[in-house]
Amino acid sequence: MSEQISIYDTPSIDALRSRLAIDPHRVHRVRTLFMKKFAGQQRAIEELPVEARDTFTEQVGFHPLQLDVRLDSETDGATKLVFATAMGKRIESVLLRAGTGRTALCISSQVGCAANCDFCATGKMGFFANLSVAEMLDQVVQANEQIADEGRTVRNIVLMGMGEPFHNESNVYEMLDLLIDGKYFNHPANRVLISTVGITDAMLRCGRRYPKVNLALSLHSVRQTVREQLIPLARKFPLDELRRTLVELNALQPSTVMIEYLMLAGVNDSPEDAAELIDWLADLRVHVNLIPYNPIEAAPQLLGSSRAVRDSFAGQLKSAGLTTTIRYSMGADIEAACGQLVQKMERKRRAITSQE
Ligand code: SF4
Repeated sequence: MSEQISIYDTPSIDALRSRLAIDPHRVHRVRTLFMKKFAGQQRAIEELPVEARDTFTEQVGFHPLQLDVRLDSETDGATKLVFATAMGKRIESVLLRAGTGRTALCISSQVGCAANCDFCATGKMGFFANLSVAEMLDQVVQANEQIADEGRTVRNIVLMGMGEPFHNESNVYEMLDLLIDGKYFNHPANRVLISTVGITDAMLRCGRRYPKVNLALSLHSVRQTVREQLIPLARKFPLDELRRTLVELNALQPSTVMIEYLMLAGVNDSPEDAAELIDWLADLRVHVNLIPYNPIEAAPQLLGSSRAVRDSFAGQLKSAGLTTTIRYSMGADIEAACGQLVQKMERKRRAITSQE
């Protein structure tokens, strides 16, 4: 069979539609059912004339990803989805069901990651490939299909899974264009969040192009040496440049920038660290999110701060007037932290292969 056209490749779909003499409204209804109602490929295809269905199904690819594993947390509302790409690589998405009834989805933008952050299981895997537009969108479609029988749909989409989104910038923008376009997913831009370790030029390009899309900066320390130890890319994007970028973003965007701060025992969690963070963030419109750390095998030197330390750090920021939350860590029992499960599965696969 020749290579399939992606359902998101509009010019090719239009050409096929015209060849098969399908009314454009029918293709529009296929898109609506598949991308807005998440009714599934089978149901969407029923919108086409009977005589065109087989050819359309044969020639159009709806799901570039194959769902490999679904793991539901027994302790909270998290579900991890592990997908296989056409190259046979694995990526992860995580569904988070909040007590409020809202559902968030964390998606991956790359297979592995070149940023090599010290605390991150994905970074320790190295980089394999950028995800295509269709592969990113398929995470949204398949996650929604998974929760359809619960009467839920994904409300918030966060690019915080495997990969640095701004290392796959053009595909991420093309994906965003389809996500927020009324003819495709019609997902509100202000319910999308992109998390970056701080690629400053891309943050500004994104802020200009999508003023309503939220940005999160993984800051983790306002000491340059500590930040460089945690995030090697910090050498290229120093703290003073990051601060100037945040000032500019605040002028470009109506929303606040989320500052992500991983709480690491003895590394960045002292009262002095909090005081320096408060100074650094002065006059910026930001929301600080303190993140409890899930230790990973590849970085045994890093441990999470105790709850008492986290609470006191948060208290110090709040007293200084900073909007501060402590992220409730979901899915610890299903290794929901980015890259952990995939890394474990890959290790197991390699061990089995080497025994064969
Ligand atoms: S934290 Fe993000 S940018 Fe850093 S290695 Fe992990 S996936 Fe890449």
